[in-house]
This record gives sequence, structure tokens and C-alpha cells, in this order.
Amino acid sequence: MLCRRSWPSTSPLIWPGRWSISGSAVDRLTPTRRSELMSRIRGKNTIPEIVVRRFLHAKGLRYRLHDKRLPGTPDLVFASRKIVVFVHGCFWHGHEGCRRAALPSTRTEFWADKISANVKRDLRAEEALKRTGWQVFILWQCEINMKTLGDLATNVSMRSHGKAD
Ligand SMILES: [Zn+2]
Repeated sequence: MLCRRSWPSTSPLIWPGRWSISGSAVDRLTPTRRSELMSRIRGKNTIPEIVVRRFLHAKGLRYRLHDKRLPGTPDLVFASRKIVVFVHGCFWHGHEGCRRAALPSTRTEFWADKISANVKRDLRAEEALKRTGWQVFILWQCEINMKTLGDLATNVSMRSHGKAD
């Protein structure tokens, strides 16, 4: 899968790529600094997530955030439409074939185990959601651009809802 860089330069939003760190940049950090950086990136409210939220909000779509009652704690929940959206950081969620998912050259095995556990957890959550009638959208960090955001907004809007969130 190719990582596209089609974010328009005129966009007021922050290009998500600037937020990402390459494997080699991570390698240059001390282990403490690196784990600080990793834990910060892993958390909620990451820049790619905020970019997606702002876009959908501007389209008039309303959602709940990080609903712990649902499998995998989806980043955005459109409850009455039965839609959830996950915004996945390529490194943490092991985006297959993506250069941003490259493992650091030190402690490679540690990271490989951690990431593969995350991938399995994501799959289990996705299956559990689908089994209970949720439509699941996954937006990869490297694939966030005006086209994919527009498509997502269209898909969410098209799914009618009974009552407002
Ligand atoms: Zn990616």
C-alpha cells in the first residue's frame, strides 16, 4: 500500500505526516525519550484523529468520542447510524506494507510482538462490532487526505439515522 501525500498545501489543517516519526528518527532517541514519545503518540486525541474529527464536524456530522462500552473503544461513534470510525496510526496498528509501520532497528522483536498483539486486538474488536451490526470504517494515518475524508463523510451521511445523537 502506498503512502500518499496529497494533502493540499492550502489546507488550514495540519498535514498528518508532519506528526509521524520515521524509524531512524526513533532509533536516535534514548530509550526513555523514545518510550515517552511512543506513549504520547499512542494516546487518544492524536493529530490525525483531530484532523478527521474537525473535518466530519465541519460537515455537520456529530459523534461521540472513545466509547469504552464498545469493543476496541472506537475513536468516533455515530451511535444512531450504527457507525464507528477508527483512526489508526500506521506504526501502532501495524499498517501492512506501509513505510511508517517500519519497526525500529533496536529491540525489533519487542516492537514486533507489541504491534502484532495490537493488530490481533484490532481485528477482534472489528469482528465483534460487525457481529453486532456496526459498520466499521478504518482510516489509516497515511491515507488521510481530502478525498478519503470526503468519502468517509459521504458514507456516514448516507446511512440514515432514527434519532439525533
Ligand atoms: Zn500507513
